[in-house]
Amino acid sequence: MDFTHYSDEAATIAADLVNSRGSWSGFEYLPDAEAVAAFMQDHGLSPPPSIGKKEIENIHALRERLAAAFMAPDERTSVAILNELLDEVGTHPQLTDHDGGNWHLHYVPAGEAVSQQLTTVAAMGLATVIAEHGFERIGVCSADECRDVFIDTSRNKSRRYCDDSCSSRVNVAAYRARQKQDTA
Ligand SMILES: [Zn+2]
Repeated sequence: MDFTHYSDEAATIAADLVNSRGSWSGFEYLPDAEAVAAFMQDHGLSPPPSIGKKEIENIHALRERLAAAFMAPDERTSVAILNELLDEVGTHPQLTDHDGGNWHLHYVPAGEAVSQQLTTVAAMGLATVIAEHGFERIGVCSADECRDVFIDTSRNKSRRYCDDSCSSRVNVAAYRARQKQDTA
């Protein structure tokens, strides 16, 4: 699959942001400014010198709306959520060649708040995946008790789990269930 800047890196930011809620563990991975700054750095974004409490709340609220876009019952619902986010944040498209001379578009938020930056990147990422590859490319883990999300970059759109640990947990459970049946 030829996933590009936005459909790969930016969409991954959207998924990682949603998963920072820790659906499986209940753990909050983005509780404070330090965690948000580290998250941004890990994803190639530059955090500002300080991130206020209100901004953390905005980021948590953004996360819920992104989760709703991933878990939408159909593509129209998902698209409506993403269009609303893009409309609210207001973006300035800019050409850049920062990653080695290939011109590509960056969507810079109208404001400077961190939550606006994350909204722009995450919403553009998901919007690009849907526009270029289809709604079926954004998914929710099929494992029981896990609601983590992912971008399906597999060749035949076959991905079902957020990561290997969920997939092996389900496989082990299925294996044990079969064994129990065989011995019964
Ligand atoms: Zn999972």
